[in-house]
Amino acid sequence: MKRMLVIAAAALTLVAHAQNFPGSKPISIVVPFAAGGPTDKVARDLAVAMAKTLPGGNFVVENVAGAGGTIGASKIARANPDGHSLLLFHIGMAATPALYRKLSYKPLEDFEFLGMVNDVPMTLIGKPQLPANTYRDFENYIRANAGKLNIAHAGLGSASHICGMLWQAQLQSKEAMTTIPFGGTAPAMNALVGGQVDVMCDQTTNTTAQIESGRVKAFAVTTAKPLADHKLLKYYPSLQEMGMKGFDLTIWHGLYAPKGTPAAITTALNDAMKKALKDPEFIKKQEALGALVVTDKRVDPAEHKKFVAAEIQKIKVAVDASGKYAD
Ligand code: ASP
Repeated sequence: MKRMLVIAAAALTLVAHAQNFPGSKPISIVVPFAAGGPTDKVARDLAVAMAKTLPGGNFVVENVAGAGGTIGASKIARANPDGHSLLLFHIGMAATPALYRKLSYKPLEDFEFLGMVNDVPMTLIGKPQLPANTYRDFENYIRANAGKLNIAHAGLGSASHICGMLWQAQLQSKEAMTTIPFGGTAPAMNALVGGQVDVMCDQTTNTTAQIESGRVKAFAVTTAKPLADHKLLKYYPSLQEMGMKGFDLTIWHGLYAPKGTPAAITTALNDAMKKALKDPEFIKKQEALGALVVTDKRVDPAEHKKFVAAEIQKIKVAVDASGKYAD
C-alpha cells in the first residue's frame, strides 16, 4: 500500500512537472562522443536553435564519450524521464545493437523518439604529410605501404568505424590498416592533423573547416554522388565513382529521451525541434558544413522510430554476415 502511494505521488509529480516544462532546470543533451567533434557540433547548434523555440528552455551539452557512443546512450536509457536528460546520437543508435551483443540498452524499447535532425555525408581524409593528392594516388600509396598505415575511429559502432570498415572491405590492399580508437573524432582529428595517424573517415560537420584550411587532405566523399552543391566539397569524387561498388554512406542524427518521458514533454520538445530545424541560421550553419537538415516528416517521432527500426535490421544483416562483433 505504502509503495503504491509512493508510485502515485511520483506519477503526480511528473504530471505537474510536464505542465510546467521546462521550468528553470536546464535540459542536458548528452553527446556520446568527445567535445568539439561532429556529433557535438550538431548538438550545440541544435541546442542554440531549440533554446530560441522552447520558451524558458536552457540547454547544456554534456559529453559522455566512450565505447562507440554506448556509454552516453546507456546513461540516457537509465536517466530520469523528466525531459531534462536527452541524447543526441547518430547511426550508432542502429549499429550498436548489431555490434555489441551485450548492450545495456534496447534502442526501440528504452527511448522516446523525438525526431531526426539531419543527414551528414562523410569524407575520407588523410594527414597533411601524405604525399598523395588525389584518391588514386592515395590508393597507390596505400598499396605501396601495405600494413604500415593506421586508421583512426571513434570506437566500435561509431560512424568513422563503420565507414572505415566498409572502405577497407573494398580496398584492394594486401594487409589491413591498424585501427586506433578514440573517444570521438575530435581527438582523432588532432592526431591526424599532428601526423600521429594516417587516415580517417569523418562527418563533414567536422572535416569541412579542416580541409578548407589545409590542415588535412581530403580524398573522397562517401555519398553515391559528389556533393555538387557544396562550394568546397564539390571538388572531391565519391568513393563509388572511384570504383567502390555501391558505396553510399550518409550519417543521420536523431534526438531521444528516456522511455516514460510524459507525452506533454515529448510533444513540447518535438514542437521546439520542428521550429528549430526551420531556423534559417541553423540551416545555414549546417549547410555550410555539408549537412542537410531533415524536413518535418522525419522530425515526426513515429517516422523516426520506424526509420531506426529499419536501419537496425539492415545493419544487423551486414554485421552478422561479416561475423565481426565488438565483444
Ligand atoms: N564522428 C564520430 C563517429 O565516428 C563521432 C563524433 O566524435 O562525433 O561516430
